[in-house]
Amino acid sequence: MKRLSAVILLLVAGSALGAYVWGDRLMLALMRRQVVHNLSGAAFAEFPDGLNVVLCGAGSPMPDPTRSGPCVAVIAGKRVMIVDVGSGSVRNLAPEGIPVGRISDVFITHFHSDHIDGLGELMMQRWGNGANVSPLPVHGPTGVEQVVEGFNLAYAQDDHYRTAHHGETLLPSSGAGGVAQAFELPAPGAGTVVLDVDGVKVTAFAVSHPPIVPAVGYRFDYGGRSVVISGDTVKSANLQQFAMGTDLLVHEALSPELVQVLTDGATEAGAANIRQITVDIVGYHTTPVQAAEIAQAAGVRALLLYHIVPALPYRALDRIFVKGVDQIYHGDVIVGRNGSWISLPAHSTAVKIGSRS
Ligand SMILES: [Zn+2]
Ligand SMILES: [Zn+2]
Repeated sequence: MKRLSAVILLLVAGSALGAYVWGDRLMLALMRRQVVHNLSGAAFAEFPDGLNVVLCGAGSPMPDPTRSGPCVAVIAGKRVMIVDVGSGSVRNLAPEGIPVGRISDVFITHFHSDHIDGLGELMMQRWGNGANVSPLPVHGPTGVEQVVEGFNLAYAQDDHYRTAHHGETLLPSSGAGGVAQAFELPAPGAGTVVLDVDGVKVTAFAVSHPPIVPAVGYRFDYGGRSVVISGDTVKSANLQQFAMGTDLLVHEALSPELVQVLTDGATEAGAANIRQITVDIVGYHTTPVQAAEIAQAAGVRALLLYHIVPALPYRALDRIFVKGVDQIYHGDVIVGRNGSWISLPAHSTAVKIGSRS
């Protein structure tokens, strides 16, 4: 009897060990498959020709585990571009199948820190992943020169270490950092074409984010499709003008009702500083209902909300965030989170909505 128990025990232990070892092997095989999928370009090839928008950061300065700082990846044909680079956003690019080494341009909407604080990391990753021989073009209104110069200076020692370690072929010193491409803030009603190459046109226009000047949004046109990205703004008639008849509006949004919960909570907690900040921020953003009003008036096919304020720790809060929106706007509305993906296949009217992650 004793011997039988020992045999059974041995069998159980053996199969548990087998499952453990095989479980590990399975995990390693899966990991390897994912690495090959991303590095071979297979993940990138899945983006259809047209305009593809992926939220690399759906959030704001407020910590939210599902929403990094503001970042919108726009893939137009084979061109990979990024609008704003918030904290944590760079780490979402590769997992979303976006080849960081192929990023051709960055566009900055304004110089609030939450929109630029990932720029140093992006410039370094793009250089290291692509062995790029020229710095990353960083477009922005006047003032972008100072931002790029600052990041270049801060990263100068790191740039030197990396070329010294990996060599000129892998990390050519000519490709480190960024190069500013500044433009004048366009007057209301006027757009400035900041890029026009290979059928991809990018137009900057003024938005209203007082007291922050300059502040712009961008419109992307490619393959008969169009996207407008708001940056930070109050409800803007100028933005609405540039969004007229476009396929997708990616608009920032702040819920006053939910921010009031923060204000009340900060009051109760005796956090006077935080309380005042929650009061101040309401005045220079757009509510979800106002974003819906713009989307409806401009006749866009879909509305993707990003720069979500405040953080939404539970999915059930999405419903409160967009309360009243469906009464105003009759297209698709998406409360953005990291990985929200919208695809606009070229020369069609299709809008495909999903999530890459
Ligand atoms: Zn912001
Ligand atoms: Zn801002």
